[in-house]
Amino acid sequence: MKNIYAIGVGLIGGSLAIDIKKNNPDVVIHGISRKDATLETALSLGLIDKKATLDDLAKADLVIVSIPVDATVKLLPTILDKISDTGLVVDAGSTKVDICKVVENHPKRRNFLAMHPIAGTEYSGPTAAIEGLFVGKTNIVCEVEKTTFKLQEKALKLFSDIGMRMRYMNPEAHDKHIAYVSHLSHISAFMLGKTVIDKERNERDIFDMAGSGFASTVRLAKSSPEMWTPIFKQNKTNVIETLEEYINNLTHFKELMKNDDFEAIFSEMKNTNYIKDILNGIN
Ligand code: NAP
Repeated sequence: MKNIYAIGVGLIGGSLAIDIKKNNPDVVIHGISRKDATLETALSLGLIDKKATLDDLAKADLVIVSIPVDATVKLLPTILDKISDTGLVVDAGSTKVDICKVVENHPKRRNFLAMHPIAGTEYSGPTAAIEGLFVGKTNIVCEVEKTTFKLQEKALKLFSDIGMRMRYMNPEAHDKHIAYVSHLSHISAFMLGKTVIDKERNERDIFDMAGSGFASTVRLAKSSPEMWTPIFKQNKTNVIETLEEYINNLTHFKELMKNDDFEAIFSEMKNTNYIKDILNGIN
């Protein structure tokens, strides 16, 4: 592998570029983005070696697409049109159904591998890219059987070398499960942030009282709306289902409070403490 093209050099594209370059010092990382200023930043941070455009993709051994999921759906067929017969294209999008669907009948479908690295922070853009982001993290790979065996192997080696473990899933199962563990968490952080900001307008002191519990719960509300709006749009049905269940739980909690049923509130929390074991399993 010699020429890698990173389309999108933000948090995910930039962090992948850092780790891949570290493991493969001889590869040349070419960056492609909408804005030249973003590429200049990526160059100055050393995330990429060169700036490039979509017209250069015929020279790519690997193309990594890490741009918002609506832009991925729009651009992916064109990217596949442009690559050589031996080029591999992977995407890092947080949704998988629409992305897999848009290329299902593409003549170069076998050159594409759909994945979702489950790693990130609440920051975005090239300055958010960090070394080692993917160590010990899961990479969800979808429809692996639709990718040429040789290219599968290439991708799997590259991503396991940067510390990831692979899990295989179909796109529908991916989008359903990720709605619970990622998309709902972001919505609840955004709405928690909104609730407190609305209140703060009247009561300045509230943030003086906010401790680390508030900061860690609301952390994800710093995330980029540009990235998250298309995710919610593409995964609308699953996200609405998770929201309904979450709102039911909140309403139930409110009813218990109104009814002074603190025994039930105690046991709700006690039962949910089990999350400790689940999280220990993840970390
Ligand atoms: P990011 O830091 O905001 O970077 C995305 C970059 O995409 C931006 O720097 C932007 O560059 C570029 N871009 C936007 N629209 C574009 C277009 N139409 N054509 C070319 N470039 C475009 O976002 P990210 O967190 O790296 O996310 C990238 C992808 O990874 C998304 O699909 C996201 O769903 C997925 N993902 C994110 C996380 C996470 O935790 N953040 C985790 C796993 C997967 P310009 O400044 O040039 O517009």
